[in-house]
Amino acid sequence: MSRPVLAQINLAALRKNLRMAREKSAGAQLLAVVKANAYGHGLLRVLPALSDADGLALLELDAAVSLREQHYGRRILLLEGFFGADELSEIALRRLAVVVHHIEQVRMLETTPLTRPLEVFLKINTGMNRLGFKPSEVREVADRLSASSSVAALRLMTHLARADEEEGLHEQLQSFEDACKGLPYPRSIANSAGVVRFSEVGGDYVRPGIMLYGSSPFPYDTAEMLGLSPAMTLRSELIAVHDLKPNASVGYGGGYTAARAHRVGVIACGYADGYPRHAPNGTPVLVCGKKVRTAGRVSMDLMTVDLTEAPEAGVGSPVVLWGEELSVDDVAAAASTVGYELLCAVAPRVPFVTTEIGKVDIEL
Ligand SMILES: *Cc1c(COP(=O)(O)O)cnc(C)c1O
Repeated sequence: MSRPVLAQINLAALRKNLRMAREKSAGAQLLAVVKANAYGHGLLRVLPALSDADGLALLELDAAVSLREQHYGRRILLLEGFFGADELSEIALRRLAVVVHHIEQVRMLETTPLTRPLEVFLKINTGMNRLGFKPSEVREVADRLSASSSVAALRLMTHLARADEEEGLHEQLQSFEDACKGLPYPRSIANSAGVVRFSEVGGDYVRPGIMLYGSSPFPYDTAEMLGLSPAMTLRSELIAVHDLKPNASVGYGGGYTAARAHRVGVIACGYADGYPRHAPNGTPVLVCGKKVRTAGRVSMDLMTVDLTEAPEAGVGSPVVLWGEELSVDDVAAAASTVGYELLCAVAPRVPFVTTEIGKVDIEL
């Protein structure tokens, strides 16, 4: 028996979500986004579930190299390209495709002799205002890249900042269309939000991330409404229960005070496991499959919940922090963040297990 906290990764859910992304963007090549260790799920762990993708996209060169060492043979796109010319020989050796978003990267490609030319995705800033060339620069940069002996093939791409809005999306799409006018190269536009709206967004390569892991890219449409299944379930157990008298407080700083007598349960999970410390009182948690609410500050190793809604719960009762039956998006919304952040933040001390099916009984 070890400390009962565990992240369970459901490969069947990943496969299903990938299939859904594929159906929505029929005809486009699908690059599954696996940056940040596959959004916290474990890159090599999820790889078998992504075998139907046409390729993978991430930005960590060491992770891309480890994929090749595992004999992953399809396209791998580095979403931020390279940070220095010293990375180019490894990139060429490993047959990695690169984003080029800055003129300095163009210069490095022009001046560094390569053993093999690269596939390059020229990134255009259409309103996100982080990375990418201005629409007015695109033609000249595309000409320079296509003339370079370091470039084997050219594609045009952009990243959507406001794919959940009407106005913002259409402005960006128009800007991309104007910047690419007359250029004969394939295009990549859609992240998960763009895949869900593929009929408006289009493109030759799609780059879904969050939807593959079963979390919604939109603030209003839930993952369930989109037909997505959670790939990660973060589980724990109650390791203590207490009766609180009226006016008794719980945890550091007395962050919660009971208005009436009730029971509280203590869960073996805290912010050092990746649960957000800023989750306020009332954040949802499942105990024995029933929705209960946090009561008191999340501490490093523990958190506490009001057990009024789960009278049968006792020491050893199963807890779901997020995942099956409790969307990570609901927990994230209560904690004023997004599912992406919670999934990426599961801490190294949490053990992971992989399953193929929906519900399983796990010996914690
Ligand atoms: C992270 C990322 C994606 C995936 O975005 P999701 O919202 O997770 O689908 C796509 N494209 C780029 C450039 C990214 O950085």
